[in-house]
Amino acid sequence: MPAVFTIWSSPIPTQSDQILVSAKKPMPKPKAYVDYNKCDPYLCHDGICAAAEECELRILYQDTPYEPPETTSAPCKGCFKCMLVCPAKAIVKM
Ligand code: SF4
Ligand code: SF4
Repeated sequence: MPAVFTIWSSPIPTQSDQILVSAKKPMPKPKAYVDYNKCDPYLCHDGICAAAEECELRILYQDTPYEPPETTSAPCKGCFKCMLVCPAKAIVKM
């Protein structure tokens, strides 16, 4: 019966529709993290973390020269200027 067919052909999300919708969610922006296996503050001038110096938002900071930097919980904007200046290539995108 055509009337019944019309009712059931209205758009009802299927499982594959739901997969498509979730696939369109924007991917989270990559952020900068310190790889402490690679970080060697002795490679930086006077032990001052070049990456922390470069970060204008102070996401990376260093309490003491010759110590690896810490990261704050503030949102990293993902500019990766810090990555460019780290001599040990210890800043990674994740
Ligand atoms: S610039 Fe790189 S190597 Fe130097 S202290 Fe910072 S993270 Fe470590
Ligand atoms: S990616 Fe940019 S905002 Fe994030 S820690 Fe590095 S310099 Fe700072």
